[in-house]
Amino acid sequence: MVVGGGINGAVSAACLAGRGLKVALVDRGDFAGFTSQESSNLAWGGIKYMESLELGLVRKLCVSRNHLIRSYPSTVREIRFLAVHPRGFRHGLWKLVLGAFLYWLLGSFFTKRPRHHGVASLAATEPVLDLSASDGGFEYSDAYLHDNDARFVWGFIRRALDRGCAGANYVEVTGATREGGVWRVSARDVETSDALTIHARVLVNACGPFVDALNEKLGTKTRFRHVFSKGIHLLVPRITPHERVLTFFADDGRPFFVIPMGARSCIGTTDTPVDQPITTPTDDDRRFVLDNVNKRLTLERPLDMSDVVAERCGVRPLAVAVGSGESTDWMQLSRKHVVEVDAERKQVSIFGGKLTDCLNVGEEVAQAITDLGVAIPRPTATWYGEPAPALHDELLQKAAQYGLAEAKSPKTGELLTARLWRRYGAEALRMMDDIHADPRMGEAVIDGADYLRCELELAAEREMIVELDDFLRRRSKIALVMPREELERAEGLKEACHILFGDRAEQKLNRYFSR
Ligand SMILES: Cc1cc2nc3c(=O)[nH]c(=O)nc-3n(C[C@H](O)[C@H](O)[C@H](O)COP(=O)(O)OP(=O)(O)OC[C@H]3O[C@@H](n4cnc5c(N)ncnc54)[C@H](O)[C@@H]3O)c2cc1C
Repeated sequence: MVVGGGINGAVSAACLAGRGLKVALVDRGDFAGFTSQESSNLAWGGIKYMESLELGLVRKLCVSRNHLIRSYPSTVREIRFLAVHPRGFRHGLWKLVLGAFLYWLLGSFFTKRPRHHGVASLAATEPVLDLSASDGGFEYSDAYLHDNDARFVWGFIRRALDRGCAGANYVEVTGATREGGVWRVSARDVETSDALTIHARVLVNACGPFVDALNEKLGTKTRFRHVFSKGIHLLVPRITPHERVLTFFADDGRPFFVIPMGARSCIGTTDTPVDQPITTPTDDDRRFVLDNVNKRLTLERPLDMSDVVAERCGVRPLAVAVGSGESTDWMQLSRKHVVEVDAERKQVSIFGGKLTDCLNVGEEVAQAITDLGVAIPRPTATWYGEPAPALHDELLQKAAQYGLAEAKSPKTGELLTARLWRRYGAEALRMMDDIHADPRMGEAVIDGADYLRCELELAAEREMIVELDDFLRRRSKIALVMPREELERAEGLKEACHILFGDRAEQKLNRYFSR
């Protein structure tokens, strides 16, 4: 049984179910409803850890990033980072340019080659940059999640379910005891408060920032624990039309990004120690982000809170050895994950982690389960990646046959075949059939959002949407790119709710907008 449906729990369930084990997965909120919806959406090699000379970690993350790009070519995409070097920075420009080349090498030259920019070339590439305090910059590649982090996590959950995993969101584990060599897990349906009991041979604690809290409830002693670093992002109208990440060094010396997200730019992040996993952005956090970005751009008027469409805020759960916390240098804390095994109690705890490294986490959890004496029926079965290219060819043929090869998403102008394949994989084929049979299925339902009727029908059937927020914030990114007032007024939202929730549409709508 896997507890927690963020990225770590999702890959654990996908890997174990994909390899033939009987798996249960629960999350007390929605899948990816906590940390895994608040990231920077990057699959990156951790260029910044080169400063602390963690080259082994950088190499590992670069390899993981490359593997993700190869496995999910339509979702995890290479993107250029344009970095501005401030005059007088603690590292000289050429040192950082060389660093970018070393980073490229550590990534096995998988991405496009880095390049140096003089000030004039930076200005010509991105006129929005304020270069008055810069002596140049450089460009390098990493990758980003085209839809968003939560949708990426959902892909693993769906895959686990398709392989027979019994999954439930809004089910909380309240305790567990080990009796007669089996875990007896007590859980609660969060909506109805009904109690459930689940029996499992092995328990995987993938509760992210709540791993320690669950272990305490279970009486499990571990060698690692978490400390938390808070990070926020603000979403504002698109700052540059180009599909690239603008990279700066913020006033605290840390890298700071402007990342494209549809019609918005996502700015951040911060890195502040906090004691508790549940946090909200403070005015200081917001001021830090806005002041830093305003200082580095030449906008017609500085960005302020009236420009903010949505906020993201989460804590990075960082793994530290028990007993080492107090003396640790915060910024130097390692961002490596740890899969800790309690052989006696047959329990696995996942500490730390990154979306980027998720495939390794899945593999390591499977290894841990094997080490605990559970025989894995298909130990080498593939449990991740996009469906076979032959299916993609079939999709393109179908689209051509139906005259839909050039059909585009109404708002973004993206080819429909590309959008449906990226988001739904093999299901895209039947969606094409649906659109062909009834052209209304290819119409956008919510004014201002790119969501087609056939996507909503599929979401209602296959995406375990319990609350409207699950759909608006995680299966889609509508709530991140559309201001709330606009969304509330949007023609078609009611119809979307009817498709998703049937008779309970009104109740779900009211609940969402009364929060
Ligand atoms: C600001 C920020 C930026 C980041 N940027 C990046 C990035 O660009 N790239 C990258 O690779 N990584 C990034 N990360 C790191 C990455 O997002 C996290 O490491 C990762 O999402 C953690 O996933 P998780 O599954 O461990 O935790 P979570 O996503 O928090 O999942 C844990 C789940 O457990 C559930 N749970 C807890 N207790 C219980 C219980 N008792 N019963 C049932 N369920 C329970 C919770 O509801 C939650 O959904 C970033 C993190 C932050 C905060």
